[in-house]
Amino acid sequence: MARLMAVHAHPDDESSKGAATTARYAAEGHDVLVVTLTGGERGDILNPAMDRPGILENIAQVRREEMAAAAAALGVDQTWLGFVDSGLPQGDPLPPVPAGSFATVPLETATEKLVQVVRDFRPHVMITYDEHGGYPHPDHIRCHEVSVAAFEQAGDPDAFPGTGDPWTVGKLYYTHGFIRDRILRFSEEFDRNGQTSPFKEWLDKWDRNQGDMMARVTTQIECADFFQARDDALRAHATQIDPNGFFFAVPLEWQQRLWPTEEFELAQTRVTTSIPETDLFTGIEE
Ligand SMILES: [Zn+2]
Repeated sequence: MARLMAVHAHPDDESSKGAATTARYAAEGHDVLVVTLTGGERGDILNPAMDRPGILENIAQVRREEMAAAAAALGVDQTWLGFVDSGLPQGDPLPPVPAGSFATVPLETATEKLVQVVRDFRPHVMITYDEHGGYPHPDHIRCHEVSVAAFEQAGDPDAFPGTGDPWTVGKLYYTHGFIRDRILRFSEEFDRNGQTSPFKEWLDKWDRNQGDMMARVTTQIECADFFQARDDALRAHATQIDPNGFFFAVPLEWQQRLWPTEEFELAQTRVTTSIPETDLFTGIEE
């Protein structure tokens, strides 16, 4: 059995990015640890049913409880790195991120804390976001930077003395969710069933110059049996996820039939593998 670490910026990201994959590996008996870098304290309430007294005032505690329920739904372990959510800056020009928040913490400081967790858990494989963060939130960009730095330095005996014995992680992956072809297949299925596709406008506006993330995908993980666990975990983040919203627009059976995988990019490897892959642990020997 091997160990898999997924590093995420906020509570709920673990349930929307590579979630079914982590649930599958956990169900197969591997050790799976989600590391949540911030407490998500600056998340808005995105579910009208949760926009009620007592929630926003206690958002930090509420989100801890939601995270615990989501981790239980996925069957994974979870730990916090303890940084403060930077919030998503809005306006033109964009305001600076709040002082003391995660995106303002020196990279070295955040890396040291993550290296400590890596040396303690000793993952064979790490998952994080690509250089764009998968979503332009300053904490997501930072999550990428910190994860890459920890992957590169955790095995260096001269780096971060006092944070445990060096541990060399075998592989580093980025999760990729915005696959045009996947959305297109769902949209066509709405058409075939005589229903209005919720993705029409999105597909029409898709910037063809940005290219399709599928070109970067090296690894597809079959995880359709765990889409339900993923959805349960998402719903556990009740303040963040509208049960009538976009995430649940496509019937589970369509997803399982039309696109039963989650997509990853092998960003760095220290073990031998061949592309394409169907298992994050290919090449890892225990
Ligand atoms: Zn996030």
